[in-house]
Amino acid sequence: MLAGHIPPRPRTYSTRLAVIGLAVTIGFSVICGVTLTDMGKRDYELARRSAANVVATISADIARNLELYDLSLQAAVDGMKLPEISQVPPAIRQMILFDRAATAKHLGSIRVLDQNGIAILDSRVLEAEAIDHSKRDYFQVHVQNAGLGSYVSKPWVSNHGEYLIGISRRMSDTDGSFLGVVVGTLRLSYFHSLFKNVDLHEGDALTLTHASGVMLMRIPFDIDLIGRDMSNAELFGQMVSPASSSFEALAGIDHVKRLYVHQPIGTRPLMLNYGLWVDGIYEGWRQEAWRVGAMILLLCGTNLALIVFLARALKRGAMAKHELAVTATTDGLTGLCNRRRFDEIFDQEWRRAQRAQLPLAVLMIDADQFKSYNDRFGHQAGDAALAAIASCIAQATRRSGDLAARYGGEEFVVLLPGKTPEQAYEVAEHIRANVIALRAQQLARPDSTPTISLGVASMIPQQGLQLTDLLKAADNALYEAKNKGRNRTELSLELHPGAVPENKLAAA
Ligand code: GH3
Ligand code: MG
Ligand code: MG
Repeated sequence: MLAGHIPPRPRTYSTRLAVIGLAVTIGFSVICGVTLTDMGKRDYELARRSAANVVATISADIARNLELYDLSLQAAVDGMKLPEISQVPPAIRQMILFDRAATAKHLGSIRVLDQNGIAILDSRVLEAEAIDHSKRDYFQVHVQNAGLGSYVSKPWVSNHGEYLIGISRRMSDTDGSFLGVVVGTLRLSYFHSLFKNVDLHEGDALTLTHASGVMLMRIPFDIDLIGRDMSNAELFGQMVSPASSSFEALAGIDHVKRLYVHQPIGTRPLMLNYGLWVDGIYEGWRQEAWRVGAMILLLCGTNLALIVFLARALKRGAMAKHELAVTATTDGLTGLCNRRRFDEIFDQEWRRAQRAQLPLAVLMIDADQFKSYNDRFGHQAGDAALAAIASCIAQATRRSGDLAARYGGEEFVVLLPGKTPEQAYEVAEHIRANVIALRAQQLARPDSTPTISLGVASMIPQQGLQLTDLLKAADNALYEAKNKGRNRTELSLELHPGAVPENKLAAA
């Protein structure tokens, strides 16, 4: 079949479908990925916020208790300024100087130290033990600094094996000269009692550190860490910020990466830190992400498989349709167009030529004495001969727009849009020459392809003329060729009277 008249391959849109399907799948995966990432970020922020709430609450509690204790110390400092205080009986003096609130659990003695650091009064006993405190930091800082106010000391271990910190205040004379120090002690067990109520997750840590870098309390509790100087730890550098903050760092103690939420205790030299194990924060999210991820993967996989299946089915359907269309328009024996296709195209070309006022040529071709050929060599040889003639016709009609068809039996028809009678005659002679050349190749065979006769007609469709007139003219010319002895081409006499193109080929 000539290329110009093969039904065009239908668009299957399978590639487009695959691209759209792939884009939808990728888009869906990206949206899910972004949503999952956001979920992770939200979990992280939630954990940070709840840690910040815990440290804010604990820090407020510690600050308030230290404030209360400090008020008791201040009361003792003020009481010591009373001129009569040295004259009143010891029991009354104790009541004047030392607040009952200072006897609360976790609080130790409040002691009054003289200028040399020797204990002269003790809130717990009437006769204070004259212990020397002059080397202690809570004494020394007030000797050196008159305007310090309240001081929270570094921790130490008491004779009873208890960890203590001291809170001290300076006693000054009216002229500002140093009179001594009032110091109260606080057991670190107080912080432990506060911390132990916090529900820590695995890998988390809550610590209270003195500004000097000494660890005061930590949970999970480890007695070896209490009192340890952490000032050289890399992490400690980030903890001295006076404002609350959060940051990620690797813990020097257990080498675990944590999100630290830092909170100073008011203006005191104490810092609270909640360390959240980063892997722990994402634990729930990770499980969720795996589950959702697996579902997305399954969905995307199924989606892609469906798209591939659908695209292939579409393509197969379209190919089958195309093959059917080709079969419906092709002559099975010769591979040329069939009569139905010819009628369709002829009608289109006729109207096109009519509109454009261009010539349209028709060749009618008939195998010579084919009946006797069939009779001599059999029907199968006849079929082969028809196919050979068809290929001779096809070879000469390759121009786009040309159409060669099997008209019926051993007859063929060729449509040549735009060809004048002379040009159409030339094509006809070209076809006949092809057959003659083929016969020349087959000389040795008795069943060489039979010759053909051709009738040529061409016209510019005029008003009142039908396409059948053109066909009839070509058919009459063919009849003329048969009459004149076959194996020749004749131009339609009714359409082209007097036009007798030179017959270049000798009758073979
Ligand atoms: P002419 O030169 O005048 O055309 O003589 P002819 O014998 O070719 O003409 P006729 O119409 O008498 O015979 C046509 C023959 O073509 C009759 C038929 O057996 C044969 N024929 C038609 N279609 C086919 C076909 O598909 N295959 C074969 N093998 N023969 C066919
Ligand atoms: Mg015939
Ligand atoms: Mg014939």
